[in-house]
Amino acid sequence: MFVLSQQKVKSLAGAIMLALAACAANAQDYTLVIKGGHVIDAKNNINEVMDVGIKDDKIVRVAKSIDAKGAQVVDAKGLYVTPGLIDIHSHNFYGTEEDHYLSNGYTAVAPDEFTFRSGVTTVADAGGAGWKSFNKFKEQTINHSDTRVFSFLNIVGEGMRGGAWEQNLSDMDAKATATVVKAHKEIVGIKVAHYMGAEWEPVDRAVQAGTSANVPVMIDFGGNTPPLSIEDLFMKHLRPGDIFTHCFAQLSSREAIVDDQGKLKAFIVAAQQRGIIFDVGHGGGSFRFSQAIPALKAGFIPNTISTDLHTGSMNAGMKDQLNIMSKFLNMGMTVQQVMAASTWHPAKAIKHEELGNLSPGAVADVAVFSLKKGKFGFIDSGGFRMDGDQKLETELTLRAGKVMWDLNGISRPSWK
Ligand SMILES: [Zn+2]
Repeated sequence: MFVLSQQKVKSLAGAIMLALAACAANAQDYTLVIKGGHVIDAKNNINEVMDVGIKDDKIVRVAKSIDAKGAQVVDAKGLYVTPGLIDIHSHNFYGTEEDHYLSNGYTAVAPDEFTFRSGVTTVADAGGAGWKSFNKFKEQTINHSDTRVFSFLNIVGEGMRGGAWEQNLSDMDAKATATVVKAHKEIVGIKVAHYMGAEWEPVDRAVQAGTSANVPVMIDFGGNTPPLSIEDLFMKHLRPGDIFTHCFAQLSSREAIVDDQGKLKAFIVAAQQRGIIFDVGHGGGSFRFSQAIPALKAGFIPNTISTDLHTGSMNAGMKDQLNIMSKFLNMGMTVQQVMAASTWHPAKAIKHEELGNLSPGAVADVAVFSLKKGKFGFIDSGGFRMDGDQKLETELTLRAGKVMWDLNGISRPSWK
């Protein structure tokens, strides 16, 4: 008869327990593994074929080869895998029915209807709400969206109501604005837009509020009469980290970054070195190839790519975040550069460095893209076309580990 000593029984039981624990740990290491894709994670300097291991809503590991054991597997061979895109200039606040948010008859849109199909998992509404209307925006949209929704609070207390509302200097209250910014974690900055006077007050008050609340200011210049000097804006009024959106606009009412001879102005380079964030903010009227192409040829690249999404831009040359990224690819930026400008750089610009990367422990907001080769055309805000031979398409979007968009079913088992 084989008899175990009490000591041996104890150690055997311990070993079995350990083995069981190890099995359990293995079985639960990952819920989803994205295998064999070309991972671009600018924060972590990753630009090569890697596997991405996800457990529930978090990134666990990015490595050459991950044993998927029991997890859902996505085959991403031949595809790009990146953090979920961050669009820092979107319009998602409707206001009320009698209000007319945004000018020219255009309206804001619900985030979830447009984000996931473009690989976007985070948006920042750019100035729809002011300090008086933020709570309404939070109730209407922020609390009811799967997309992560942030806000640049308008320096105008009433927000982007158009017309005379946005010209009212007495409704641009730095103190009230800063107080509301500090009270809400969803507010990431302050927006200045559409002011048509010759005064600097809107900018200066926004910067005052931004300094008090420790957030950046985003500037939409475009209506000042006469146009204000953008050199003065960058060098005298803004702080490093403040954001100049619509950077490739060409309007009679705003100074452009490229001069009439097609030359990038020298102070633009100095301003970017000073820390001014140049944001695309494409929109319906704010992106011209005649600005972007000479600027890129001169070695300038925008810090962040964003849409200025509303019903006007999405049905014109802008279309969506990926279409803009594709434009920049065809103008000479690399895939790594357009991804960085849509993930890690915007995360830093809005001081949310927990986003826009695939570090272990980060939320599993992930996008998977294909890069199509062929004959494509792109339209700018002047109505001009640029031909191109490559275009990005969203295959898969995960928000907090959950599949929100899957174009070709790469996350699903075959019906057979
Ligand atoms: Zn806008």
